[in-house]
Amino acid sequence: MKCKRCRGPAVVEVRRHNAAFCADCFVHHVHKQVRLAIRSHDMFGPGDRVVVAVSGGKDSLGLWDALLELGYRASGLYLGLGIGEYSERSRDLTRAFARERGADLIEVDLRDEYGFDVPTAGRKGSRSTCAVCGLSKRYVFNRVALDHGFDVVATGHNLDDEAATLLGNTLRWQTDYIARQFPVLPRREGMVKKVKPLHRLSELEAAAYAFLRGIDYVVEECPLVGGNTQLRYKEAMNALESGSPGTKAQFFLGFVEKAAPMFAGADAAGAELTPCERCGQPTTGRFCAFCRARAQVLGERLGETAGSDDDDRQTARELSEEVLPAELYARGR
Ligand code: AMP
Ligand code: ZN
Repeated sequence: MKCKRCRGPAVVEVRRHNAAFCADCFVHHVHKQVRLAIRSHDMFGPGDRVVVAVSGGKDSLGLWDALLELGYRASGLYLGLGIGEYSERSRDLTRAFARERGADLIEVDLRDEYGFDVPTAGRKGSRSTCAVCGLSKRYVFNRVALDHGFDVVATGHNLDDEAATLLGNTLRWQTDYIARQFPVLPRREGMVKKVKPLHRLSELEAAAYAFLRGIDYVVEECPLVGGNTQLRYKEAMNALESGSPGTKAQFFLGFVEKAAPMFAGADAAGAELTPCERCGQPTTGRFCAFCRARAQVLGERLGETAGSDDDDRQTARELSEEVLPAELYARGR
């Protein structure tokens, strides 16, 4: 096979694009897709301060690498989740990456900062470990970005992640989640702008990029993820993709282009937000979802009404999916 761009020997095939690339041209292809994502969704410009949430995995480290290569001002943010050796290893690899590139890395430890870690939350809370973990990540990313004056938070979600989430949301017709599943969520009061510059690249492309760029990343999956429904949706999408390459991209990128506007009305964007009485983060209730989940894990009471059935129902609803709770991000389109 020959490289589509330079006709030299190819090392990576991208069936969806009916193309193969040599190492240099593949890196060029990835950068082009990232630039296209940034430009077409007006994610950020060269003067903006970007914070990349880095897990130590191939996607987020690859994203950080690409943004630095493309000349953006990108710092990293690593959140210690306290998942034993897995967390230690991902932290070490993230630190090593930052050191090698001379890049700025912010580290936050969930236990040091908020008094609990993810395994404890899974045991003590009434909801799934992944849900509390997702909620904590979104909360801390937003908080850190605001406190440090960043213009935008970038995450490493790739095309496979987004297609699988969209499939899950569509199977259940969660129209409000569908309305918010967009590669860019605009800034609003108390909420920093959030972007997914890898949404045009598959998991395989992200892995090939990290490999070709010599990035040392944590290969293991999170040990707590077993049986996660997201993984089943990914398998389903992969089964479809192997029969007809391009299905994933048609599904998700087609949604972004053609279907997302139709769902905009299903979004709770109109809901009035007031500051959480505990932490100040905008919320639809008295306390934000993170403060409620945290109080439950720590066995604390949050005001007189905490622990009421209504509160519990609201928290459960907000945590039921690994997408953003209504109060955290509403699309202001
Ligand atoms: P996940 O929720 O594990 O699928 O990760 C989605 C995205 O969240 C990753 O691509 C990263 O950008 C970010 N992320 C996940 N875990 C962490 C972490 N421990 N610290 C910082 N960012 C993270
Ligand atoms: Zn709060």
